[in-house]
Formats: sequence, C-alpha cells, structure tokens
Amino acid sequence: MKCPDCAGLLMDVTLTGIDKSYRCFNCGGVWAIAKTVNGLPAEDQSGQWQRIEVDPERLKTGDNRCPNDQTELEYYKGGLIPAEFKVRQCPVCHWWWWPTDSLFNFKPLQEARKKEKAKVRQLMPMMMAALVPLLSLVLLITGGVVGVRLLGQQQQVKVAAAQRLSEVAGIKFENGDATVTFVYAGEVKTAQVFLTDESKWVPVTVEKMEQNRYQISFGKTLAGGEEVRIRVNGEEAVVPFRSIKP
Ligand SMILES: [Zn+2]
Ligand SMILES: [Zn+2]
Repeated sequence: MKCPDCAGLLMDVTLTGIDKSYRCFNCGGVWAIAKTVNGLPAEDQSGQWQRIEVDPERLKTGDNRCPNDQTELEYYKGGLIPAEFKVRQCPVCHWWWWPTDSLFNFKPLQEARKKEKAKVRQLMPMMMAALVPLLSLVLLITGGVVGVRLLGQQQQVKVAAAQRLSEVAGIKFENGDATVTFVYAGEVKTAQVFLTDESKWVPVTVEKMEQNRYQISFGKTLAGGEEVRIRVNGEEAVVPFRSIKP
C-alpha cells in the first residue's frame, strides 16, 4: 500500500494493540479506521511514538489516493475533530489519513475539548434546578395569563432536562453515502431513520464509537431526501448535514 502524501510504502502497525493500522515511516502519516482512533488512550502518548521529521516538499510527491482502493481522499470535518487537524478520509472505505505526526497530538486535544463540553453539560441541570423555583415564584406573584404562559415555559424546561439525544450531526459524501453521529445518554435500544421519499420510518444499525457516541452509516438510502430525521429510543432529531468538499 502506498502513502497518499509521499508515495512511500505503508507498514503494518498497531495503535491500540488489537487494531491493524498502517504508518508511513518516510513522512509519519497514519492510516487507520475511526474506531481505532477513538479507541486510543486519552493521555498524551506522544513519548511512545517514533516522531518523524519530514521535508514539506516531500509531502507533495504522493497522489492523495486511498491506499486501499485508490479513491481520492477528502478533507474530513466534524464530530470531535478540532479544526486544526487536517484529517482526510476515503469516501469509499471511510478509513482516515492522519498526515505527518498529527494523530499523536490529536487525542490529548480531543480529550481537553470533551472535558470542556462535559463541564457545560454538568452545569445545565443545576441551572435548570435554579430556574424552576424562580419561575414558580414569578408565577405566584403575577398569576393570571402571564402565569399560564410561564407554566408552559416551566414544562419546557423539564422536557429539556430529560432529553438524552444530543450532538446530532451528519456528513454527506460526494458519492451519496452518508454518516450520522450522535451522543445518547444511555443505552441505544432502537434507532430509525425517516425516509422522506417513502414517508416511513425504517430501522437502522447503530455502531458504538466511544462512550455515549454512536454512528449510523447509510449507503444510498438517503438519496433524494432533503431533511433527514432520526429517532433513537423514540426521541427524534433533525440531522444537520454538511457535505464534504476537499
Ligand atoms: Zn509518507
Ligand atoms: Zn478507500
């Protein structure tokens, strides 16, 4: 298999001890599947990896083709990958290309970002808890029509707190394939997608990526549909899609 950056030969490596990944020892790039990358330990592992110095000119000698099937690689944006990582993905086999030593800087940065998000999530129920008595107090004081309106808001607050489905995002690839990722607080028992063309819900297979993050991969199932809706354990969400452009 050939390196998409420098045309060097890719060598078998294992990143987690059980995966089969590849690395170019000319330029440092790593070829791996999403599951492997997501399974990397959270701590800074940079000391364990051989760093490779590379002349940037050398990175232009490759053809940017998938080492598996020679499809042109496309820039991947989304999920929990910070913008500074120029990860590329094969739209056919969905393997990821991490140029130079970028993969080894990725996980610690991703963890930091996740912790930030978790902090906000932890604060939310406390804010809600503070809000409900406050609304009740206002309700007591004002009463009447205003009170009824506030009661509606109060109920909405409760619904929001019980919501378990979040961070729903989708990617459409140029070949028509699509993936949807989401976070679900709990075990996913059923998942469906709404097919606009046929006006019906159909069951889909969900793959667990990490902790509470899940992914659904679609073949041509979604072709034609403008708005995509998914339903996880009965909870519905509209999927905001972005298309991949290199
Ligand atoms: Zn290379
Ligand atoms: Zn491929």
